Order: sequence, then C-alpha cells, then structure tokens
Amino acid sequence: MNDVNELNQCYTPLLAIEEAARCLLCNDAPCSQSCPAGTDPGKFIRSLRFRNLKGAIETIRTNNILGGVCSRVCPTEKYCQLACSRTSIDRPIEIGKLQQFLIDYEKTINFNPLKAVEITKEKIAIIGSGPSSLAASSELAKKGYNVTVFEKKEKIGGWLRYGIPSFRLGEDILDYEISLIKNLGVTFITNCEFNKDITIESLEKDGFKVILIGTGYDLGRTLPLFDNCNKVENAVDFLSRIKNSNNNLKIEDNILIIGGGDVAIDAATSAKLLGAKNVKVIARETMEEFPASEGELKNARNLKISIFDGFTPTDYSNNKVTFINNTNETITILPDKIILAIGQIASLPQDILNIKKKNIFFAGDISEGDKTVVYAVKTGKDAAEKIIEFLGGDR
Ligand SMILES: Cc1cc2nc3c(=O)[nH]c(=O)nc-3n(C[C@H](O)[C@H](O)[C@H](O)COP(=O)(O)OP(=O)(O)OC[C@H]3O[C@@H](n4cnc5c(N)ncnc54)[C@H](O)[C@@H]3O)c2cc1C
Ligand code: SF4
Repeated sequence: MNDVNELNQCYTPLLAIEEAARCLLCNDAPCSQSCPAGTDPGKFIRSLRFRNLKGAIETIRTNNILGGVCSRVCPTEKYCQLACSRTSIDRPIEIGKLQQFLIDYEKTINFNPLKAVEITKEKIAIIGSGPSSLAASSELAKKGYNVTVFEKKEKIGGWLRYGIPSFRLGEDILDYEISLIKNLGVTFITNCEFNKDITIESLEKDGFKVILIGTGYDLGRTLPLFDNCNKVENAVDFLSRIKNSNNNLKIEDNILIIGGGDVAIDAATSAKLLGAKNVKVIARETMEEFPASEGELKNARNLKISIFDGFTPTDYSNNKVTFINNTNETITILPDKIILAIGQIASLPQDILNIKKKNIFFAGDISEGDKTVVYAVKTGKDAAEKIIEFLGGDR
C-alpha cells in the first residue's frame, strides 16, 4: 500500500510560498489559537510567506516534535483550518499540507533546529511510547532531564506505529521524528511492560524521581453479542496485524465492520486495499452525527465501501448478524469476517489510573480531552511543564 499523503503531497517551494501568500497574517491568529499542541501555524505561515523556510521549520519543530506526523494525521478541519479567517473569503489556508511540505523540506536539506543539551538533571520514567510520551520526553530532554521511555511492545510509537494505517502515515516520518528525540538524549527500552516487568516501586528504587504514565487506550472494546463468535476480530488488532505483516495480510471476501469512527473507516479501507471484495460498514450513529472525518469517509466511498448509518446489532445466529434501526427496519448480513470498531479502553487497572501521588503524572488518551494525536502532544507538553515545576522549576 502506498502512503496516500505522500502521493497527495504536491507542494514545491514556490507553490507553498504562493499558498502562504493567501494568508491574511491575522493578529492573534485564530489558527494558532486552535492548535492544541501550540504548533503556531500563524507564525510558520508568516515566515514561509516571506521566504524564510528555515524560520518556518524552526517554529514547527520547537513547538511540536511530531510536526511531521501531525501534518499527516491531524484532523485540521476540526482545529486550525476550521478557525482560519481566510474561509470567509474563499477557503482556508492548507495549513496541514504546508506543515507537511516544511517538514519534508527539513529532511531534504538535513536541517535540525533542535540542539541537544547536556543531561544533568533528575531521572524521569515515561511509560508507553505514544505521541503524548514522545512529546513529553522531548520537552524534558530539551531541559536536561534524564528521560527513559519504557514500552511494552517491540517498537516505539503507540497507535502511530500499530494503528494508523501506513497509507495515511508512513513509518519513515515516524522513525525520523523518533530519531530527533533520541538525538536529544532520550533512552527507549522496549519489550518492557509496566505493572509486570517494572512497577512504581522498582522505578523509584532505581532512582526515577517522577513517573509519567501515557499508556493510552490500548485495547479494543468488545460486544457480548459476539462472545462466542470465531469470525470476530477487533479493529485495532486487525490494523496491528496488517502493519506487522507489512501490508501482506490474506483477507476474506466479505467483511463487515461494526462502528462509525475513524478506526472503523481505517479498518474498512485497509480491508478493501488488501483485496476484500465486499466491505460493509454499519454504524449506530446517523450520517449527521457520524464520528469519522469527512476525508476518511470520502476515501471509503471512492473505494466503493458501503456505509449504513443508524443501525445497531441485535442478534448473531447461524453466522448472520442482524441490525435494527429506530424505525424497526432490519438488515441481516452473512459476513466471512466481522471487525468490531466500537472504541478502545485502557489495559492498565483502574487503581493505577486513579493513583494520586505527587510524583506520578498522566498524559495522552488516558487523560481528559480529545482522543487525537495533536491533543496527545498537548497533554504530553502540559505534563512536562508540570513535571518541571514539581522538580523545582527551570534551573
Ligand atoms: C486505528 C487508529 C487510527 C487513528 N487515527 C487517528 C488520526 O488519523 N488522527 C488522530 O489525530 N488520531 C488518530 N487516532 C487516535 C490517536 O492515535 C490517539 O489519540 C493517540 O495515539 C493517543 O496517544 P497516547 O499518547 O495516549 O498513546 P497511544 O498511542 O495510545 O500509545 C500508548 C502506548 O503505551 C504502551 N503501553 C500500554 N500499556 C503499557 C504498559 N503497561 N507498559 C508499557 N507500555 C504500555 C502501548 O503499547 C502504546 O505503545 C487513531 C487511533 C487509532 C487506533
Ligand atoms: S487564521 Fe488563516 S489567514 Fe489567519 S493567520 Fe492563520 S492561516 Fe493565516
């Protein structure tokens, strides 16, 4: 599978500057105020407009260590581009695409505005290596803290690595941004599970002064209706298997996806791209309240994926699933495989997630707020700020 973002990426430096020239250079730029991660598009677009490409890159990179990842997966239509003042004239500035162009340019010219500092400060343990942890680790390392990230899986990145399909987020950009974090002096230990291989007590005994937990919602929800069904798989497990197989998974012909969020549409699109003949998505929500983003739905429709809205599964028998809507219409499907995409939950037990201890902090999906990459970056940055304050401020 190709990375559709790479294929869509068509900005040359001149075209990017031309797009940036449409920017109204707003005071207190609404786009910047709407970026949870504080990437500051108003500022980087201004630099780009005046042909200061390095300055633009520096703004993105210093504010958001995952600037390249975010440029590819962020639902900009809900954040910066929704707020863009240019919309009232014609259409919003293509902020996500400009950011993607700038980060690709950073790679091309081998420009790294982040300079590592000497690591002289306290030891900090970060649990999980998703976007919140990556953002927190880089903020702390930039200030000289001795950061170790512990990850239970083999590879770093959380859902960026194991969830979001590679046709939307290539591994190269993730690996590149992780390499920038490593350059800042962050240590990564993989295949190491918190609450099993390591605990709060063992980490404290090893001299870690602070523990930041960013373990995410790492398990797919199930439905009791399918407890004894051997055709069912969770969407996140399915997507992980695809990634582990290097997009070479054998797929059944008739796939039924239950759920209506981005994860459901990712699973549907992936199944279709792997060669499934018929892919149906059936969601409880009606089209007006459909959780999946417009862009993802459009791609799914282009691939001739059937989408039924407003139906809830009520029965599973004789390998058939029956759905009903609020006017008592029913649909019955006989799928070869059922993929459940009805949300995720945390695998860490509640007693740890509710722990109240001064040196323990939380970030990412397990904390309050939007469940998006850019919001995870925000919570990671916020946690880093609180940790620095807890350890006595910027010394
Ligand atoms: C299929 C899919 C598609 C998505 N698409 C988008 C999108 O397009 N745009 C968007 O903005 N958001 C998207 N999201 C949501 C986004 O990925 C999450 O909101 C974000 O990754 C959450 O970040 P996090 O920091 O909480 O960590 P997560 O990404 O959840 O990672 C948590 C990490 O902690 C590790 N971990 C868990 N328990 C332990 C333990 N006990 N010990 C050690 N490590 C542990 C896990 O293995 C994992 O690596 C998508 C999610 C999925 C599943
Ligand atoms: S809101 Fe739109 S027009 Fe205003 S500074 Fe941001 S990108 Fe430019």
